[in-house]
Amino acid sequence: MILGHGALAVLARDLNTGAPWWLLFAASFGPDLLDKPLAIAFDLTDRGVGHSFFSLAGVALLLLLVWRFGLLPGRQAALALALWVLHLITDFPTAMTFWWPLYGMPSGEYLLDREFAHWTAFYLSPKLTPVFVLDACLCALALTRLGVLLVARQRRKASNTLYL
Ligand SMILES: [Zn+2]
Repeated sequence: MILGHGALAVLARDLNTGAPWWLLFAASFGPDLLDKPLAIAFDLTDRGVGHSFFSLAGVALLLLLVWRFGLLPGRQAALALALWVLHLITDFPTAMTFWWPLYGMPSGEYLLDREFAHWTAFYLSPKLTPVFVLDACLCALALTRLGVLLVARQRRKASNTLYL
């Protein structure tokens, strides 16, 4: 799931925490933002350290410190952590990946063209797997929400020009 993570960031905006878009997207894609560069640089599997409990605990601690020192409101920090957790839940990492380094490093090599082929097939010739259905539902909800926001903005603009 790629687009579904972005959809979760869009939907999280409705919680009115005042969290900026960059925080929502960084938290929503966080595990992949850690793992993909590591996989490319060190020829590792695409889901590794970033998708583990270890990184989740590290991010939780970091957000706790950021909140404690007043750099981020508590609600925004909690939302960022929730988006990170939702990423892990929707990716269904294996036990070996989630409990890294307890079972060792998940093995596998990362091939960018294979990854591209996988995601192209996932979206362009989909199979009705639970992950695809979840991804499609999240994208549909997010697109609907963005459409509603766009219509509301247009109506506000129209009513403002009406009274000028
Ligand atoms: Zn992921």
